Amino acid sequence: MTHTTTILTGARANNDLHIGNYLGALKPMVDMANTTADKYTVQLFVPDLHSFTTEVDHETLYAMTMRNVKTYIALGFPVDHPNVYVYRQSFISAHSELAWILDCFTSFGELQRMTQFKDRSAKIGEKRISVGLFNYPVLMAADILLYGAKYVPVGDDQSQHLEFARDVAIRMNNKFGNLFTVPASVSEQHKFFGNKQGLRVRDLVDPSKKMSKSDATGKGVVFLNESTVSARKKIKSATTDSYSVVSHDYTKQPGISSLLDVADGFGGDSKEYIATHNYGALKQAVADKVAGFLADYQAKLASIDDRRVEDLLLSGEHAMQLRANETLDRVQRAVGLRAR
Ligand code: AMP
Repeated sequence: MTHTTTILTGARANNDLHIGNYLGALKPMVDMANTTADKYTVQLFVPDLHSFTTEVDHETLYAMTMRNVKTYIALGFPVDHPNVYVYRQSFISAHSELAWILDCFTSFGELQRMTQFKDRSAKIGEKRISVGLFNYPVLMAADILLYGAKYVPVGDDQSQHLEFARDVAIRMNNKFGNLFTVPASVSEQHKFFGNKQGLRVRDLVDPSKKMSKSDATGKGVVFLNESTVSARKKIKSATTDSYSVVSHDYTKQPGISSLLDVADGFGGDSKEYIATHNYGALKQAVADKVAGFLADYQAKLASIDDRRVEDLLLSGEHAMQLRANETLDRVQRAVGLRAR
Protein backbone atom coordinates (compact mmCIF):
# COMPACT_ATOMS: atom_id res chain seq x y z
CA MET A 1 0.00 0.00 0.00
CA THR A 2 1.14 3.53 -0.62
CA HIS A 3 1.82 5.65 2.43
CA THR A 4 -0.39 8.68 2.07
CA THR A 5 -1.12 10.92 5.05
CA THR A 6 -3.02 8.85 7.59
CA ILE A 7 -6.03 9.75 9.68
CA LEU A 8 -6.57 7.39 12.59
CA THR A 9 -9.70 7.09 14.63
CA GLY A 10 -10.90 4.58 17.17
CA ALA A 11 -13.78 4.15 19.53
CA ARG A 12 -14.31 1.79 22.41
CA ALA A 13 -17.02 -0.80 22.12
CA ASN A 14 -20.18 0.56 23.67
CA ASN A 15 -23.71 -0.69 23.42
CA ASP A 16 -25.43 2.24 25.08
CA LEU A 17 -25.01 4.79 22.34
CA HIS A 18 -27.55 7.61 22.27
CA ILE A 19 -28.39 10.44 19.90
CA GLY A 20 -26.01 12.74 21.84
CA ASN A 21 -23.11 10.38 21.07
CA TYR A 22 -24.28 10.23 17.48
CA LEU A 23 -24.55 13.96 16.84
CA GLY A 24 -21.57 14.94 19.02
CA ALA A 25 -19.08 12.22 18.10
CA LEU A 26 -20.12 9.52 15.62
CA LYS A 27 -21.69 11.63 12.89
CA PRO A 28 -18.73 14.05 12.74
CA MET A 29 -16.44 11.02 12.47
CA VAL A 30 -18.49 9.42 9.70
CA ASP A 31 -18.77 12.75 7.81
CA MET A 32 -15.03 13.31 8.18
CA ALA A 33 -14.25 9.85 6.78
CA ASN A 34 -16.56 10.38 3.83
CA THR A 35 -15.01 13.71 2.93
CA THR A 36 -11.36 12.69 3.39
CA ALA A 37 -11.14 9.07 2.15
CA ASP A 38 -10.35 10.04 -1.45
CA LYS A 39 -7.23 11.92 -0.37
CA TYR A 40 -6.05 10.28 2.83
CA THR A 41 -5.65 6.83 4.31
CA VAL A 42 -8.41 6.51 6.88
CA GLN A 43 -8.02 3.92 9.63
CA LEU A 44 -10.85 2.99 11.97
CA PHE A 45 -9.89 0.64 14.75
CA VAL A 46 -11.56 -0.93 17.73
CA PRO A 47 -9.22 -0.42 20.69
CA ASP A 48 -10.18 -3.68 22.33
CA LEU A 49 -6.97 -3.94 24.38
CA HIS A 50 -7.88 -0.65 26.00
CA SER A 51 -11.12 -2.23 27.27
CA PHE A 52 -9.47 -3.72 30.32
CA THR A 53 -8.22 -0.41 31.67
CA THR A 54 -11.58 -0.12 33.38
CA GLU A 55 -14.04 -2.81 34.42
CA VAL A 56 -15.58 -4.68 31.55
CA ASP A 57 -17.92 -7.64 31.04
CA HIS A 58 -15.57 -10.25 29.58
CA GLU A 59 -18.51 -12.46 28.56
CA THR A 60 -19.84 -9.89 26.13
CA LEU A 61 -16.70 -8.00 25.13
CA TYR A 62 -16.14 -9.85 21.87
CA ALA A 63 -19.76 -9.48 20.80
CA MET A 64 -19.57 -5.77 21.65
CA THR A 65 -16.50 -5.38 19.48
CA MET A 66 -18.31 -6.90 16.50
CA ARG A 67 -21.38 -4.85 17.22
CA ASN A 68 -19.25 -1.70 17.38
CA VAL A 69 -17.98 -2.33 13.85
CA LYS A 70 -21.52 -2.99 12.62
CA THR A 71 -22.64 0.28 14.16
CA TYR A 72 -20.11 2.21 12.10
CA ILE A 73 -21.16 0.40 8.96
CA ALA A 74 -24.84 1.10 9.64
CA LEU A 75 -24.05 4.78 10.31
CA GLY A 76 -22.45 5.13 6.91
CA PHE A 77 -18.71 4.93 7.61
CA PRO A 78 -17.24 4.29 4.14
CA VAL A 79 -15.77 0.91 5.06
CA ASP A 80 -15.62 -0.32 1.46
CA HIS A 81 -13.60 2.63 0.19
CA PRO A 82 -10.17 1.41 -0.99
CA ASN A 83 -8.38 3.93 1.29
CA VAL A 84 -10.29 2.88 4.40
CA TYR A 85 -9.08 0.15 6.79
CA VAL A 86 -11.05 -1.27 9.68
CA TYR A 87 -9.35 -3.48 12.26
CA ARG A 88 -9.19 -4.70 15.82
CA GLN A 89 -6.19 -3.58 17.85
CA SER A 90 -5.61 -6.94 19.52
CA PHE A 91 -5.39 -8.71 16.15
CA ILE A 92 -2.20 -6.83 15.34
CA SER A 93 0.38 -7.88 17.90
CA ALA A 94 2.75 -5.06 16.96
CA HIS A 95 0.61 -2.72 19.11
CA SER A 96 1.56 -4.58 22.30
CA GLU A 97 5.16 -5.08 21.22
CA LEU A 98 5.78 -1.44 20.39
CA ALA A 99 3.98 -0.36 23.56
CA TRP A 100 6.49 -2.34 25.63
CA ILE A 101 9.45 -0.72 23.91
CA LEU A 102 7.92 2.74 24.31
CA ASP A 103 7.24 1.94 27.99
CA CYS A 104 10.96 1.66 28.47
CA PHE A 105 11.52 5.10 26.97
CA THR A 106 8.87 6.71 29.14
CA SER A 107 9.45 7.95 32.66
CA PHE A 108 7.17 7.03 35.53
CA GLY A 109 6.78 10.70 36.42
CA GLU A 110 5.64 11.55 32.91
CA LEU A 111 2.66 9.20 33.19
CA GLN A 112 1.98 10.18 36.77
CA ARG A 113 1.40 13.72 35.61
CA MET A 114 -1.41 12.76 33.21
CA THR A 115 -4.50 14.59 34.41
CA GLN A 116 -6.88 11.84 33.42
CA PHE A 117 -4.93 9.32 35.49
CA LYS A 118 -4.78 11.69 38.44
CA ASP A 119 -8.53 12.32 38.27
CA ARG A 120 -9.46 8.68 37.92
CA SER A 121 -7.13 7.41 40.60
CA ALA A 122 -8.42 10.08 42.97
CA LYS A 123 -11.92 8.77 42.27
CA ILE A 124 -11.41 5.03 42.52
CA GLY A 125 -8.37 4.79 44.77
CA GLU A 126 -4.85 3.64 44.05
CA LYS A 127 -5.41 0.03 45.12
CA ARG A 128 -8.10 -0.56 42.53
CA ILE A 129 -6.31 1.20 39.69
CA SER A 130 -4.65 -1.15 37.25
CA VAL A 131 -1.20 -0.64 35.83
CA GLY A 132 -3.02 -0.77 32.49
CA LEU A 133 -4.92 2.41 33.28
CA PHE A 134 -1.64 4.02 34.36
CA ASN A 135 0.24 3.29 31.18
CA TYR A 136 -2.47 3.16 28.54
CA PRO A 137 -1.24 6.46 27.05
CA VAL A 138 1.81 4.44 25.96
CA LEU A 139 -0.36 1.88 24.17
CA MET A 140 -2.23 4.79 22.60
CA ALA A 141 1.09 6.23 21.41
CA ALA A 142 1.88 2.84 19.84
CA ASP A 143 -1.57 2.79 18.15
CA ILE A 144 -0.69 6.09 16.48
CA LEU A 145 3.05 5.75 15.80
CA LEU A 146 2.89 2.29 14.25
CA TYR A 147 1.03 3.73 11.26
CA GLY A 148 2.70 7.12 11.07
CA ALA A 149 -0.74 8.64 11.65
CA LYS A 150 -0.65 12.40 11.39
CA TYR A 151 -4.23 13.27 12.24
CA VAL A 152 -6.08 11.76 15.18
CA PRO A 153 -9.33 13.38 16.26
CA VAL A 154 -9.10 13.69 20.04
CA GLY A 155 -11.44 15.19 22.59
CA ASP A 156 -10.13 17.42 25.37
CA ASP A 157 -9.70 14.43 27.65
CA GLN A 158 -7.18 12.90 25.23
CA SER A 159 -5.19 16.01 24.28
CA GLN A 160 -2.52 15.41 26.88
CA HIS A 161 -2.12 11.82 25.73
CA LEU A 162 -1.66 12.95 22.14
CA GLU A 163 1.01 15.39 23.28
CA PHE A 164 2.69 12.48 25.05
CA ALA A 165 2.68 10.46 21.81
CA ARG A 166 4.43 13.39 20.13
CA ASP A 167 6.96 13.68 22.96
CA VAL A 168 7.91 10.01 22.93
CA ALA A 169 8.17 10.02 19.11
CA ILE A 170 10.43 13.08 19.13
CA ARG A 171 12.53 11.62 21.96
CA MET A 172 13.12 8.39 20.06
CA ASN A 173 13.72 10.19 16.77
CA ASN A 174 16.39 12.29 18.49
CA LYS A 175 18.09 9.19 19.84
CA PHE A 176 17.74 6.82 16.90
CA GLY A 177 17.21 8.93 13.78
CA ASN A 178 13.97 9.18 11.89
CA LEU A 179 11.93 6.33 13.36
CA PHE A 180 8.48 7.84 13.57
CA THR A 181 6.23 10.33 11.86
CA VAL A 182 5.36 12.82 14.59
CA PRO A 183 1.57 13.31 14.79
CA ALA A 184 0.25 16.85 14.38
CA SER A 185 -0.04 18.96 17.53
CA VAL A 186 -3.38 19.37 19.26
CA SER A 187 -3.92 22.82 17.75
CA GLU A 188 -3.10 21.51 14.26
CA GLN A 189 -5.54 18.64 14.83
CA HIS A 190 -8.25 21.15 15.69
CA LYS A 191 -7.45 23.15 12.59
CA PHE A 192 -7.57 20.04 10.41
CA PHE A 193 -10.79 18.60 11.83
CA GLY A 194 -12.46 21.97 12.29
CA ASN A 195 -12.56 23.31 15.81
CA LYS A 196 -16.29 22.93 16.25
CA GLN A 197 -18.09 24.43 19.19
CA GLY A 198 -18.77 20.91 20.36
CA LEU A 199 -22.49 20.27 20.14
CA ARG A 200 -23.87 19.03 23.45
CA VAL A 201 -27.31 17.47 23.14
CA ARG A 202 -29.21 18.13 26.35
CA ASP A 203 -31.11 15.72 28.54
CA LEU A 204 -34.77 15.82 27.47
CA VAL A 205 -36.08 15.98 31.05
CA ASP A 206 -33.42 18.24 32.55
CA PRO A 207 -31.99 20.39 29.74
CA SER A 208 -29.49 21.99 32.13
CA LYS A 209 -27.37 18.82 31.78
CA LYS A 210 -26.12 16.93 28.76
CA MET A 211 -27.80 13.78 27.53
CA SER A 212 -25.93 10.86 29.08
CA LYS A 213 -26.25 7.10 29.25
CA SER A 214 -25.86 7.29 33.01
CA ASP A 215 -29.22 9.05 33.35
CA ALA A 216 -30.98 7.01 36.04
CA THR A 217 -34.54 7.14 34.65
CA GLY A 218 -33.62 6.88 30.97
CA LYS A 219 -36.43 9.32 30.19
CA GLY A 220 -34.10 12.10 29.10
CA VAL A 221 -32.11 9.94 26.70
CA VAL A 222 -32.92 8.50 23.28
CA PHE A 223 -30.77 5.45 22.58
CA LEU A 224 -29.87 4.38 19.07
CA ASN A 225 -31.37 0.93 19.67
CA GLU A 226 -34.61 2.30 21.08
CA SER A 227 -38.02 1.76 19.45
CA THR A 228 -39.33 4.67 17.41
CA VAL A 229 -42.53 4.67 19.51
CA SER A 230 -40.59 5.16 22.71
CA ALA A 231 -38.29 7.76 21.12
CA ARG A 232 -41.26 9.80 19.90
CA LYS A 233 -42.86 9.65 23.33
CA LYS A 234 -39.73 10.95 25.06
CA ILE A 235 -39.29 13.79 22.57
CA LYS A 236 -42.94 14.81 22.82
CA SER A 237 -42.58 14.99 26.63
CA ALA A 238 -39.32 16.98 26.49
CA THR A 239 -39.07 19.79 29.01
CA THR A 240 -39.36 23.21 27.38
CA ASP A 241 -40.19 26.57 29.03
CA SER A 242 -42.91 29.20 29.16
CA TYR A 243 -41.47 31.78 26.75
CA SER A 244 -43.62 30.58 23.82
CA VAL A 245 -40.88 31.69 21.45
CA VAL A 246 -38.75 29.28 19.46
CA SER A 247 -35.27 30.75 19.61
CA HIS A 248 -31.74 29.45 19.77
CA ASP A 249 -30.52 30.67 23.12
CA TYR A 250 -28.92 28.10 25.39
CA THR A 251 -28.83 30.43 28.38
CA LYS A 252 -32.53 31.23 28.42
CA GLN A 253 -34.03 28.27 26.55
CA PRO A 254 -31.71 25.26 26.76
CA GLY A 255 -34.45 22.69 26.03
CA ILE A 256 -35.76 24.42 22.90
CA SER A 257 -32.23 25.23 21.69
CA SER A 258 -31.17 21.61 22.01
CA LEU A 259 -34.28 20.44 20.13
CA LEU A 260 -33.39 22.87 17.33
CA ASP A 261 -29.86 21.46 17.17
CA VAL A 262 -31.20 17.92 17.13
CA ALA A 263 -33.55 18.84 14.29
CA ASP A 264 -30.64 20.30 12.29
CA GLY A 265 -28.45 17.32 13.13
CA PHE A 266 -30.99 14.94 11.66
CA GLY A 267 -31.44 16.89 8.46
CA GLY A 268 -34.20 19.31 9.48
CA ASP A 269 -34.14 23.06 9.06
CA SER A 270 -34.26 24.85 12.40
CA LYS A 271 -35.05 28.21 10.73
CA GLU A 272 -38.35 26.79 9.61
CA TYR A 273 -39.30 25.88 13.18
CA ILE A 274 -38.07 29.19 14.59
CA ALA A 275 -40.49 30.98 12.28
CA THR A 276 -43.50 29.05 13.64
CA HIS A 277 -43.04 29.77 17.37
CA ASN A 278 -44.91 26.58 18.05
CA TYR A 279 -43.36 24.18 20.58
CA GLY A 280 -45.74 21.36 19.62
CA ALA A 281 -44.82 21.61 15.95
CA LEU A 282 -41.11 21.71 16.79
CA LYS A 283 -41.37 18.56 18.92
CA GLN A 284 -43.39 16.82 16.23
CA ALA A 285 -40.78 17.69 13.60
CA VAL A 286 -37.91 16.53 15.82
CA ALA A 287 -39.76 13.31 16.68
CA ASP A 288 -40.31 12.62 12.96
CA LYS A 289 -36.67 13.26 12.09
CA VAL A 290 -35.30 11.16 14.94
CA ALA A 291 -37.78 8.31 14.37
CA GLY A 292 -36.95 8.29 10.64
CA PHE A 293 -33.24 8.10 11.45
CA LEU A 294 -33.66 5.35 14.05
CA ALA A 295 -35.82 3.20 11.76
CA ASP A 296 -33.29 3.49 8.95
CA TYR A 297 -30.28 2.88 11.21
CA GLN A 298 -31.84 -0.13 12.95
CA ALA A 299 -32.86 -1.72 9.64
CA LYS A 300 -29.34 -1.27 8.28
CA LEU A 301 -27.79 -2.67 11.45
CA ALA A 302 -30.01 -5.75 11.32
CA SER A 303 -29.13 -6.37 7.67
CA ILE A 304 -25.36 -6.57 8.21
CA ASP A 305 -24.31 -10.16 8.59
CA ASP A 306 -21.40 -11.37 10.70
CA ARG A 307 -19.65 -12.82 7.69
CA ARG A 308 -19.37 -9.42 6.04
CA VAL A 309 -17.88 -7.93 9.19
CA GLU A 310 -15.40 -10.79 9.57
CA ASP A 311 -14.27 -10.40 5.94
CA LEU A 312 -13.94 -6.66 6.30
CA LEU A 313 -11.87 -7.01 9.48
CA LEU A 314 -9.66 -9.77 8.13
CA SER A 315 -8.73 -7.80 5.04
CA GLY A 316 -8.16 -4.63 7.11
CA GLU A 317 -6.05 -6.55 9.61
CA HIS A 318 -4.00 -8.18 6.88
CA ALA A 319 -3.07 -4.82 5.36
CA MET A 320 -2.47 -3.18 8.72
CA GLN A 321 -0.25 -5.99 9.92
CA LEU A 322 2.12 -5.35 7.01
CA ARG A 323 2.20 -1.65 7.71
CA ALA A 324 2.58 -2.04 11.49
CA ASN A 325 5.28 -4.67 11.18
CA GLU A 326 7.32 -2.42 8.92
CA THR A 327 7.45 0.18 11.68
CA LEU A 328 8.05 -2.39 14.41
CA ASP A 329 10.91 -3.90 12.42
CA ARG A 330 12.51 -0.45 12.01
CA VAL A 331 12.26 0.13 15.75
CA GLN A 332 13.57 -3.33 16.65
CA ARG A 333 16.63 -2.72 14.48
CA ALA A 334 17.19 0.72 15.93
CA VAL A 335 17.05 -0.42 19.55
CA GLY A 336 19.28 -3.40 18.90
CA LEU A 337 16.79 -6.27 19.02
CA ARG A 338 17.52 -7.16 15.39
CA ALA A 339 20.67 -7.02 13.27
CA ARG A 340 21.11 -3.58 11.74
P1 AMP B 1 -19.44 9.00 26.41
O1 AMP B 1 -20.73 8.34 26.02
O2 AMP B 1 -19.62 9.99 27.53
O3 AMP B 1 -18.31 8.03 26.63
O4 AMP B 1 -18.98 9.90 25.16
C1 AMP B 1 -18.59 9.36 23.93
C2 AMP B 1 -18.50 10.51 22.93
O5 AMP B 1 -19.81 11.05 22.69
C3 AMP B 1 -17.64 11.67 23.37
O6 AMP B 1 -16.92 12.16 22.24
C4 AMP B 1 -18.61 12.71 23.85
O7 AMP B 1 -18.13 14.01 23.69
C5 AMP B 1 -19.83 12.46 22.96
N1 AMP B 1 -21.05 12.77 23.69
C6 AMP B 1 -21.50 12.15 24.82
N2 AMP B 1 -22.67 12.70 25.22
C7 AMP B 1 -22.97 13.69 24.36
C8 AMP B 1 -24.04 14.63 24.23
N3 AMP B 1 -25.05 14.66 25.11
N4 AMP B 1 -24.02 15.50 23.20
C9 AMP B 1 -23.01 15.48 22.31
N5 AMP B 1 -21.96 14.64 22.36
C10 AMP B 1 -21.93 13.75 23.38
